[in-house]
Amino acid sequence: MPLKIQNEIEQEITKFLSDLIRINTTNPPGNETQAANFIAEDLAKEGFTPEIIESAPGRGSVITRLKGTGEKPSLLLLSHLDVVAANPAEWTVDPFAGTVKDGYVYGRGAFDMKGMVAVEVFTLKLLKKNNVPLKGDVVLAATADEEKGGEEGAGYLLRHHREKVWCPYVINEGGGLAIPQSKGHIYTVQTAEKGILWFRVKAKGTPGHGSMPNMADNAIARMNKVMDKIGSMQPQIVFLPTLKQFLVQVAKQNPMLQEPFSRLLANPEQSDRILDELAQTDRVLAEEIRPKIKMTITPTMIHGGVKENIIPSECEAVFDCRVLPSQSVEETFSQIKNLLVDVGLDKLSFEILQIHDGSESTTETPLYNSIVSVLKDLEPDCEVAPKLDTGGTDSRFFRQTGSVCYGFNPMRPDEPNDKLEKRMHGIDERITVENLVFGTSVLYETVRRFMT
Ligand SMILES: [Zn+2]
Repeated sequence: MPLKIQNEIEQEITKFLSDLIRINTTNPPGNETQAANFIAEDLAKEGFTPEIIESAPGRGSVITRLKGTGEKPSLLLLSHLDVVAANPAEWTVDPFAGTVKDGYVYGRGAFDMKGMVAVEVFTLKLLKKNNVPLKGDVVLAATADEEKGGEEGAGYLLRHHREKVWCPYVINEGGGLAIPQSKGHIYTVQTAEKGILWFRVKAKGTPGHGSMPNMADNAIARMNKVMDKIGSMQPQIVFLPTLKQFLVQVAKQNPMLQEPFSRLLANPEQSDRILDELAQTDRVLAEEIRPKIKMTITPTMIHGGVKENIIPSECEAVFDCRVLPSQSVEETFSQIKNLLVDVGLDKLSFEILQIHDGSESTTETPLYNSIVSVLKDLEPDCEVAPKLDTGGTDSRFFRQTGSVCYGFNPMRPDEPNDKLEKRMHGIDERITVENLVFGTSVLYETVRRFMT
């Protein structure tokens, strides 16, 4: 199967991605319509009837549908067209030239996520070309605005054109990259994302002269108390189904981790100590797990005062709080406020900057089983593990409306994984042609098994 697909698509998918990268969709402003047009024209040539939907002028998403018999639930192949900014001075190639060299396609979006746009488009085209007898519809949506929160892309489509995009199953970005372990690869499937609560706290006081501190009420001192209170919070430890399964699967592939992971699962209340121990041998792994078992709250901005000798009447700070999918952001926010009663709520004001709940999908579905069976056939010694992300993708919009969403962009590492992850939003972002073909063959086979 992979070899046949390789000959068919290697050149074509490389050119497609390279052309797509040349359409600059840096968000802001986005300008995704041009990229949506490019994909629509490509699909129309193969007999599809794609549609472009704009949430605002220039902010286009493209959707199309391959009809099935309706015996099975439909599946959405979701992706986003926008990219983050790139500074050409830092790159060895022009980030928007779509350079192909040494087996790579270079450019902003190659990894996040125009590469997967290409994989999904080619999967759909192959399903049609090979007349795969689909029992359910396969829908493609390449959307605007993910990098700025997705409200003008996936969010807009669900609010205004739900019947055109909503599916019980969704495949999106967020997982799929193989992690090498001593006994073989672990392929991740992103099944959960933490919720976000970004808020600003303003502490108020009474101004005065810096030489007479007791005559004033220092807003910076008040903010210090806020920091102390928030910093000493002891969030509840929760092992979500996703994380439990992840630890079990990783330990299968890496026997060295069996002992610490089983201790961790058996003694959640000692998790900080166990992770401290683990950090001595594998700091990255330990610090990746730690924020996945509890809410985190991090001060990220602070500002107060204008002059050396003036006691300020105002000091403000911004906090980045991330809650587990099982926790409500609204409730967390009121818990934080309650904690600050002693500091004086009348002297504090709060402003929410961004807020949304986390989300989690079960692994007990025929789609997850198809993913596992395809990967195991391809690599008998691999394991598949669900993954919780501390950041977010457009999957949250669909999980909130009841879809099962999997972040699954199958790739094999061509460099150590810590370096690969830096390619996202990083300098010299690139993807191997091999991974474009590999991703397409795995996704095609997954959809074929799930849908026939
Ligand atoms: Zn992305």
